[in-house]
Amino acid sequence: MKKTWQTKLIHSDAAAPEGYRSLVTPVYRGSTTIFPSVEAVSDEWDQYRVGYTYGLYGTPTTLELAARICELENGKRTIVVPGGQAAIALISLALLNAGNHMLMPTSAYSPNRKLAKVLLSRFGVETTYYTPDTGAAIGELMRPNTRLVWVESPGSITMEVQDVPAIAEAAHARGALVALDNTWAAGVLFDAFAHGVDVTMQALTKYAGGHSDLLLGTVTVRDESLYEKLGLAHQVLGYNASPDDCSLALRGLQTMGVRLEAIERSALEIARWLADRPEVERVLHPALPSCPGHELWKRDFTGASGVFSIVFKPGPTQRQVFAFVDALELFEVGYSWAGVTSLAVAYTIRGYEHRIVRLSIGLESTADLIADLDRALRSLSS
Ligand SMILES: *Cc1c(COP(=O)(O)O)cnc(C)c1O
Repeated sequence: MKKTWQTKLIHSDAAAPEGYRSLVTPVYRGSTTIFPSVEAVSDEWDQYRVGYTYGLYGTPTTLELAARICELENGKRTIVVPGGQAAIALISLALLNAGNHMLMPTSAYSPNRKLAKVLLSRFGVETTYYTPDTGAAIGELMRPNTRLVWVESPGSITMEVQDVPAIAEAAHARGALVALDNTWAAGVLFDAFAHGVDVTMQALTKYAGGHSDLLLGTVTVRDESLYEKLGLAHQVLGYNASPDDCSLALRGLQTMGVRLEAIERSALEIARWLADRPEVERVLHPALPSCPGHELWKRDFTGASGVFSIVFKPGPTQRQVFAFVDALELFEVGYSWAGVTSLAVAYTIRGYEHRIVRLSIGLESTADLIADLDRALRSLSS
């Protein structure tokens, strides 16, 4: 067919040489997916069953990332979504119905609790909060309509490690599913499915991304029936994950092993140094006996990441705690930990009041970070 140059801009016969092989997953961007014939047109979301149908359900870049996370988490299938909070919302929206009851630890990531409070409640889902030291006794909090039990281990900020296998056993005995936020363990330091969890999520924004430059989340399921529920909810919620971000996450995964190892070592050294400081009442690091649930961490986890909290002894005012954080030069103040830059944020939490500060250890030299903390601790008493 003869073409004008304008048409050639769109329909080209030109092609690059074939046979290229690289170590890098290509970035397949695309909304439209081309069908071989009109008869083949389909809007099914499960690209494993029907082949590629639409960009929203994944390009080879997105689905390679999904498959790799699934492999790392030993799950059945993984769905990639635009962020960790989107992953949380997908799970609750897919698995809960009006009239259902849900259990949530008081230590859960606060936007997860907020979702229950401001949105799920409007759709007739009731939530009861339980303290993270609840194990098998979770059974006593369950009602006939309890459908979902959230766990997050260790908890956000307060870092309590939960008895996930005991909770899972009690939940399953009463017909409820268990969903885990496995972000702190980067999906690899805690084998969720081997400990009875049904569905996991993690923010790839954190250790998989690892460089503070993307937002992504994943939901991984134990079996095919959960995949059907979550896949359908993913389709109708329209949660697209950018293939460019997925490509960055695929790159991040290649170095996640060495980053996690270096960060674990550095964070432990800093945590132990802080535990010896006279200003510090308690270090909430799962690998230290001063952390609630430390024994469970020892039993169930294969390592630690780089996020932990410190609690100061009573004395400093909130202004003095803020002055400590602001005096840090290497630790920046900001959310979304697990990048190469160390971060610090002060919180006010019942039981600890204004005396708790969460640290995320990055890849700066450990000695420099300790020197920075040492210098800033002087602001506590000034
Ligand atoms: C950061 C975080 C999330 C949310 O991830 P985003 O990608 O920022 O939406 C969820 N859970 C935990 C424990 C987190 O730390």
